[in-house]
Amino acid sequence: MIIGTHMSVAKGLEEAAKNTVWMNANTMQIFSRNPRGSTYKAYSEKEVDAFLTIRKEHEFGPILAHAPYTMNLASAKPEVYEFACTVIREDIQRMDELSIENIVFHPGSHTGIGVEAGIENIINGLNQAITGEENIMVLLETMSGKGTEIGSTFEELKAIRDGVTHKEKIGICLDTCHVFAAGYDIVNHLDEVLEKFDDILGLELLRAIHLNDSMMPFASKKDRHATIGDGEIGFDALLHVLTHEKLRHLPFYLETPLDDAGHKEEIAKIRKNIES
Ligand code: FE
Ligand code: FE
Ligand code: ZN
Repeated sequence: MIIGTHMSVAKGLEEAAKNTVWMNANTMQIFSRNPRGSTYKAYSEKEVDAFLTIRKEHEFGPILAHAPYTMNLASAKPEVYEFACTVIREDIQRMDELSIENIVFHPGSHTGIGVEAGIENIINGLNQAITGEENIMVLLETMSGKGTEIGSTFEELKAIRDGVTHKEKIGICLDTCHVFAAGYDIVNHLDEVLEKFDDILGLELLRAIHLNDSMMPFASKKDRHATIGDGEIGFDALLHVLTHEKLRHLPFYLETPLDDAGHKEEIAKIRKNIES
């Protein structure tokens, strides 16, 4: 099992990797820069070397970088859009240089211009950012569909990917809380949801799973993460996701509202239930 948690941006790379080892985890999600702002701190060579050494020594699975929440590649507002284009271009490059395997972003909110125009903006933004020379994969995250959010259906994610010139660089990150809130019943019909994903996108595009429970009910189109087993999805259904034969090889990232000690316990609880 490849499992880890998201790490605060304040930690930096080396501390995040050490923390991952301490949690008995074997992968991690980091933010590619300040998640609620626009800035980033350049990593020193020493820090990058330490990070690479730890991840190698402890045989981490694929690492995931998460682009900032403030980035809206679907926006029609020139300043917002220009900023998003710059961030995704810079961060694909920066994370690729760190040998990080995947970078995920929220496709964006169209804020009134409509899904189609929003998707066109996302495609253009990705096309100015992806050269095709990268090793890193760029993952679209499945969204809950709150407000004017794009990416809450597999069809919308497919439409984005289809428009990208180097679509071989585009994969998907499935967030269990988001798909459940979007109306995909992973509790009672996981096989059917995966079949649908396979028909529309292709399961080979699925590169990462955000493992979260949901405070909000099924199909509520609301995005509130709960700790594993404390939400509307429930422990058993999430364990099912983790152990499903079509999913279990993937890296799983917890984004649950806990501190480091809480995440360590959450991982221990999951391991105990899977190994027994
Ligand atoms: Fe996310
Ligand atoms: Fe997520
Ligand atoms: Zn979320």
